[in-house]
Amino acid sequence: MPHDLPKAYDPTAIEDHWAGYWVREKLFSQPTPKDGGPESRPSFDILLPPPNVTGNLHMGHMFEHTESDILMRWHRMRGERVLWIPGTDHAGIATQMLVERQVVSEGSTRQQMGRDAFIKRVWEWREHYGGTILSQMKRLGASVDWDREYFTMDERLSVAVREAFVKLYEQGLIYRGAYIVNWCPRCQTAISDLEVVYDEHKGHLWEIRYRVIDDGGKDTGEFLTVATTRPETMLGDVAVAIHPEDERYTHLHGKKLRLPLVDREIPIITDEWVSREFGTGAVKVTPAHDPNDFALGQRHNLPSINVMDDTAHINEQGGKYAGLDRFVARKEVVADLEAQGLLAGIKDHVNNIGHCDRCKTIVEPRLSLQWFVKIQPLADKAIAAVKEGHIKFTPEMYAKTYLNWMENIHDWCISRQLWWGHRIPAWHCSACHKTTVSREDAAKCAHCGSDKIEQSTDVLDTWFSSGLLPVSVFGWPKITAVNRADFDAFYPTNLLVTGFDILFFWVARMIMMGCWFSLDVPMKDGSPRSLADSVPFREVYIHALVRDANREKMSKTKGNVIDPIEIVKQYGTDAVRFTLASMASPGTDIAFNVARTEGYRAFANKIWNAARFMFMNVDRAAEAGITIDAAALGSMPTAESSAPLESRWIVAEFHATAEKVNQALANYRFDDAANAIYQFFWGSFCDWYLEIVKLSLDFSDGADKARTKSALITLVSVFEASLRLLSPFMPFLTEEIWHAVYDGKPPAKSIALTHFPQAAKAQVGIAAVEQMGLVQNLIVEVRALRKEIGVEEKASVPIELRIDENLKPIISENSAIVERLARVTEVRFVNKISSGLAKHATSQFEAAVVYERKIDVAAECEKLSKEIAKQEKNVANADRQLGNEGFLAKAPAHIVEGLKKQREEAQHLLDKLRGDRGALGC
Ligand SMILES: [Zn+2]
Ligand SMILES: [Zn+2]
Repeated sequence: MPHDLPKAYDPTAIEDHWAGYWVREKLFSQPTPKDGGPESRPSFDILLPPPNVTGNLHMGHMFEHTESDILMRWHRMRGERVLWIPGTDHAGIATQMLVERQVVSEGSTRQQMGRDAFIKRVWEWREHYGGTILSQMKRLGASVDWDREYFTMDERLSVAVREAFVKLYEQGLIYRGAYIVNWCPRCQTAISDLEVVYDEHKGHLWEIRYRVIDDGGKDTGEFLTVATTRPETMLGDVAVAIHPEDERYTHLHGKKLRLPLVDREIPIITDEWVSREFGTGAVKVTPAHDPNDFALGQRHNLPSINVMDDTAHINEQGGKYAGLDRFVARKEVVADLEAQGLLAGIKDHVNNIGHCDRCKTIVEPRLSLQWFVKIQPLADKAIAAVKEGHIKFTPEMYAKTYLNWMENIHDWCISRQLWWGHRIPAWHCSACHKTTVSREDAAKCAHCGSDKIEQSTDVLDTWFSSGLLPVSVFGWPKITAVNRADFDAFYPTNLLVTGFDILFFWVARMIMMGCWFSLDVPMKDGSPRSLADSVPFREVYIHALVRDANREKMSKTKGNVIDPIEIVKQYGTDAVRFTLASMASPGTDIAFNVARTEGYRAFANKIWNAARFMFMNVDRAAEAGITIDAAALGSMPTAESSAPLESRWIVAEFHATAEKVNQALANYRFDDAANAIYQFFWGSFCDWYLEIVKLSLDFSDGADKARTKSALITLVSVFEASLRLLSPFMPFLTEEIWHAVYDGKPPAKSIALTHFPQAAKAQVGIAAVEQMGLVQNLIVEVRALRKEIGVEEKASVPIELRIDENLKPIISENSAIVERLARVTEVRFVNKISSGLAKHATSQFEAAVVYERKIDVAAECEKLSKEIAKQEKNVANADRQLGNEGFLAKAPAHIVEGLKKQREEAQHLLDKLRGDRGALGC
């Protein structure tokens, strides 16, 4: 087995090579299982939460992918049929905004280009730049099936989107209606509640006086004052509401008001929703621009007057203000009211203002015609799926968060006024004004047969298509008896690894849509699908956030963003992965610290050097005629009961570590798993075992060849198995060294396709661990003693050991280990440690180092004489002062006390020094 690893560990060279190899060789592809084949292997499959096609890999992705990849590699090495499906999301708003900006920078607009040309342009953009994040994943070695890569706008996925829409429509679960939506005037589209971010603003509360008029429309001279934070919306007022029991206004019940500036007569209505405490207790009602007012308008059968256009400029309903931007209109409205004496006051007021999550523009609540999913029957199933335990959340608390949201869910507005996305398959007829919804592109109105129909210009919310992914990636809706192998093998998926931020956006929608649509697909044996088998995944693992070293959220504005690609260039992917894994415990955010990555880079180095040491010995052994059969490798290392202690011990430690790692990964404790491997590899294997095994690696002529060979087999087999244990965490380094172990003739194409170590009870070997523990303790104590009494680093010394008779053989049989690792010439077993020796005691033994420091007597005498002279002077000085009557009369008592004490101490020291001088015979 000649093996040449370069002297220095250089992750860049290794990683580029293997990343390319894994993709080229399609090592992680999972083809459709053969129909009818006896596929008894359990499956383990997950979907990659599709990153936006516009995205670049950030630390959050790298963390998510690291956790997922560790799990996938672990399951794969456990012999399961593993499938991890990658893809990207077309990201409606984000992508459209990005391409739109490019178009504008070229002096054009999307409106000038027209819809078709603009969409073509987006596709071109995607062709050139849309693959960035997936290439980054390839470089970082994510073990996904690249043959199954999808894009949410792909033809086959678009078919599923259309089917889902039409089906829900046919089931009466999709409707079109005028509702107040969150409107982004910049993006010019409705956005969902989830896409609105709120923050506090210091604003004002304007109090406006509305004239009360009599039945004939004449001024009564009385005013009713209303309070509002958005005075410009008064242009759309249709009523003023007061609480029915508000005694201030009882006399106004049934009366009318004259709306200032607009001069419209509007009624005073009473409604219990009105708060008597807020403002003046009278609120203007603007159904087209406020969700609460909209509800109020519905209850009281009031009209809705929309006063703004798509860009939040006042429209023709706003009279003289038409054409003004909403905030300009606000100023003018307030100025005009003031000029007319109708502004009763302006108060400071803090309110929560909603912003578009994408472009940060202030959202305008606005009445518009939109498409909605009637959520209730879908939500019911999605609630039952979690309540009945068909989907398990880790950490558990997220199940509660999910249920709480789901139980208070509103109908889902799914239409977006964008061009980039799945266009809604609905055609409006200008002849009969009815709507045709169809799976095929419609040419004629389904109601009157007219060909004067036009497809809706709206597209679907991006999450409508991503919510369908768990069913659509496996072929739904086109699942037939002959092409259902994927669906049967992989649906439901086993796990979803994702972040909290998309729990509602995506996780909840997948559960609703998965539970709803997969019910169409009977089980393989033809029986109906139960709720338990209709869920899109059986488990959800919500990972934490990656923050900076100071636990601050990373953000571009703060400038504390860590680019994973940069950090990987510096330390290697393996070290960064290991850092993330070692800090990943469920529910705890990661404070990413480069110092830890440096530490794990050193760990990788340590393994590299251990490999080089091992290969050097394997090569020396070969020269001495000792070779190892590759068949001895690849399984779990074992040790005979007659084997030397260090062999039995390292094998036992390895089995115990393997057990810990398997257990930890089953519980998503990536941190425990990583730390167990680290402790084993660095501590047990490198620091202890490698040092001990050197004793047995004797290739000289007279050496015991059988012993050398046995030691070498244990060394190589434990090392090889350790590489497999580490492989999911550090896939590149382990791949490189593993191929070297087999010297280019590996038993598989990749270490990722071998078996993950599974502990065997018989090999856990508690006795060996206890015995080795005793030996290690002794070595640790002797090392400490040596340091304490100043034994020179390289000197070897005898020790005295008092130990129970029954433990004695463990030390005597392994005295060579103690001698080598603690630089001991001889272990002297005694019944009592000789007096005068410094000793350390543990519950099992007492040990002392026998050592006399050789000293230069003349030099020591001189040192003592100097010190004695110094102390004599101190004593004399003190005596002089204490004999001075004048000093004693003036000095405070505590000074005199202190001086007496100093004298006493100096005298004490002096006596000791004189004794030492006497002992040396100076
Ligand atoms: Zn926006
Ligand atoms: Zn028609």
